[in-house]
Amino acid sequence: MTQHAHRHREADMLTVEDALQRILGYFSVLDSEERLLLEALGQTLAEDVVCPLDLPPLANSAMDGYAVRHADIAGATPETPRQLGVIGQVAAGSMPDREVVPGSAVRIMTGAPIPDGADTVVPFEETDELDRKAAGRGLDRIAVLTDIGFGASVRASGEDVRRGDVVLRAGTVLRPSEVGVLASVGRVRVRVVRRPVVAILATGDELAVPGESLAPGQIYDANSFGVAAAVARSGGVPRFLGIARDTMDDVRSKLQEGLTADMLVTSAGVSRGDYDMVKDVLAERGEIAFWSVRMRPAKPLAFGVLEGRVPHVGLPGNPVSALMAFEQFCRPAVLKMLGRTRLARPTVRAVLRDPIHNSDGRRVFARAVVTWEDGRYVAALTGPQGSNILTSMARANGLAICPEDLPGAPVGHEVDVQMLDWPEEIDV
Ligand code: AMP
Ligand code: MG
Repeated sequence: MTQHAHRHREADMLTVEDALQRILGYFSVLDSEERLLLEALGQTLAEDVVCPLDLPPLANSAMDGYAVRHADIAGATPETPRQLGVIGQVAAGSMPDREVVPGSAVRIMTGAPIPDGADTVVPFEETDELDRKAAGRGLDRIAVLTDIGFGASVRASGEDVRRGDVVLRAGTVLRPSEVGVLASVGRVRVRVVRRPVVAILATGDELAVPGESLAPGQIYDANSFGVAAAVARSGGVPRFLGIARDTMDDVRSKLQEGLTADMLVTSAGVSRGDYDMVKDVLAERGEIAFWSVRMRPAKPLAFGVLEGRVPHVGLPGNPVSALMAFEQFCRPAVLKMLGRTRLARPTVRAVLRDPIHNSDGRRVFARAVVTWEDGRYVAALTGPQGSNILTSMARANGLAICPEDLPGAPVGHEVDVQMLDWPEEIDV
């Protein structure tokens, strides 16, 4: 290759951002569905949820204690306690049957409605209840030992949410706390953006399914499983299309079931000079382009649209490259379909414990273990960085990035690390 041709090809390479923007342009937020609350965990709300009632519905007690009129206990101290007659008791779930008149109190449990007449709750600890019990005296009277202030331990009705207020807005991702909020306003079902179905096809004559015995020259299909797991982790629903042999007919028939998916992900057969039929079949059934992305690993990438409707990402065959390209390009697409607005992984700055080499001006994603040491993040590489060494991806919790415009990043250099996981070894 001449110097000029080489430069020309480098210029043809897409940056990671260009490739991602092009791909994302083919995806939009999916339609919505009604789901039971728990089934909707992790999905994005597709409706504004209006609260049909005040929360809490009635003023109620925040403590176990005595509901009183503050005027009756004003100025109370252990030396100058206020004596009150106890006229009844109210537990959570029942309604008070007595009004608190001057000089009286109602024994009240946390969550129980405040009786008429009362405006303040005095916790047990601020009364002589324990002493009375210990002395075998009844609870028909009580001494209040502290003026705890007007309105203490009373939760006002509607203090959390008012009837008619929007409690959760469309676009909110449902976490346990949102699921709890939905239950607290009485919802059984909720409208959320549906999860994308991602069809997954492995290609290659050399591939065998785990569980089968390996014929000479065969290897197990790691990509279908790794990619399916990555789809599920991202919030999508994986659909296995199986393994297509390197024949046009097999690729054609295996692709069939992918036509109703929201996205098709294939692996292998995207590098120049590959012997395989994926390109030809895809070219015949839709559009397909072969890209070189300025990154390592996972430079070759195919992108197209099958039959005019299913966006297709062709991942490289090497298992590390396949997962890396999924991470950079497919995960954001899945998140976009799910209605998420934050598509990128959280990134931390970490000090390199090992050097990252960069010989040819690509963005290097190095598999790394990030730990927190002496008040800073430290990133150690996980050993051999070959794109076939999948175990070194398995050991990593992050991807340390050497930018394309640096010839490398030496030990001690601070770099961005995309966090794939937040394992328990990192305690901050
Ligand atoms: P290819 O893109 O077909 O040239 O494949 C590149 C490398 O990835 C080859 O070593 C393949 O054997 C390997 N490979 C392709 N598909 C898979 C797969 N599903 N699981 C594991 N390795 C694969
Ligand atoms: Mg192949």
